[in-house]
Amino acid sequence: MRAWTSAEIPTLAVTGPEVSLHDTATQGRVTATPTGTARLYVCGITPYDATHIGHANTYLAFDLLNRAWRTAGHPVRYVQNVTDVDDPLLERADKVGVDWVELAERETELFRQDMEALRILPPAEYVGAVESIPLVIDLIQRLDAAGAIYRVEDDLYYAVSADPAFGRESNYDRETMLRFFGERGGDPDRAGKKDPLDPVVWLGERPGEPSWESPFGPGRPGWHIECAAIALEHLGGAFDVQGGGSDLVFPHHEMCAGHTQVVSGEPFARVYSHAGMVAYGGEKMSKSLGNLVFVSALRNSDIDPMAVRLTLMRHHYRTDWEWTDDQLWQAVDDLATWRRALSLGAGAAAGPVVTEVLAALADDLDAPRATAAVDAWAAATLGTDGLADTSDPDAAATLLPVLDAALGLTV
Ligand code: ZN
Repeated sequence: MRAWTSAEIPTLAVTGPEVSLHDTATQGRVTATPTGTARLYVCGITPYDATHIGHANTYLAFDLLNRAWRTAGHPVRYVQNVTDVDDPLLERADKVGVDWVELAERETELFRQDMEALRILPPAEYVGAVESIPLVIDLIQRLDAAGAIYRVEDDLYYAVSADPAFGRESNYDRETMLRFFGERGGDPDRAGKKDPLDPVVWLGERPGEPSWESPFGPGRPGWHIECAAIALEHLGGAFDVQGGGSDLVFPHHEMCAGHTQVVSGEPFARVYSHAGMVAYGGEKMSKSLGNLVFVSALRNSDIDPMAVRLTLMRHHYRTDWEWTDDQLWQAVDDLATWRRALSLGAGAAAGPVVTEVLAALADDLDAPRATAAVDAWAAATLGTDGLADTSDPDAAATLLPVLDAALGLTV
């Protein structure tokens, strides 16, 4: 599937430090130093609706990682999926009376435009679930050979008991697992399952729903097996970072890890990294509550996408926070201040700001700290807190490429 167009990334004269990240599985800090090319997988959208700020927050977090690795001198291989066939998509298509393929294509295209506007670097491989069905079938067959697959009527299930490491990615107790499994697309009450937590990997054909031929009968892939098959094919095992929103910790990432660990005998990823949730109007942004702020709606209101990007970067990626319009207007003002300072050419010493920005990003993607360093430089340059400091004649020329390459901001 076609990704979106990449922004040009300036080559920097400096090299950033190695990146350390918080790992969900070990609940600790891990230096995510790749050997050779860094390999990153981030779970993509189910394209039944437009990109909201919660999505943008997640893709921005891993864009900062992508950029921090590149700044540290590592080439990056980034893979993202599109769940272009799944229950929420089929339900929405049915509800609004649109062909599901048409709906998926339309919303995926809008997502591409949103990502491009926010200057999120595109994945090298942008892979749809439908085009990956042969990979899914192959992985199910390998899991079956390992004794991890069983049938309930026309559906195939994966037995979580097949993976000795089950539960190590999320660290949740069984009660929490059962709650999240039920809330996030699972079917804990299905009769005939060996364990209520076992997820479906192949859903037998349902009347009126799309299906594909397979050795197990006509049907379509489950959600977790889709990402496991795509990641294994395009990145191999034990890749560097598996990323996504914190609502994917369980069951999605736990099941993806299990599927691949059972067939490969090695960990799915070295680090499991999760972005926080964004609330709006007092509740987590979600389709069911209808409290969504769409990136495309902001773009259509002539909001500078760089102000949207800066608003997101004012929050550490792992925190849960609430979007307010005031924060967006503050970011518009802050960008104007930065632009005013940068337009002078000369300014306060830029070298220490570059060091601080790159160090902050390498330190578990601390964008609030990185952007605060730019605020302080702009204030010193403009003399907001006293005399204007223009002692560095090349300040803007030094800073602009770093803001672009490391923070993804054109100012
Ligand atoms: Zn996924």
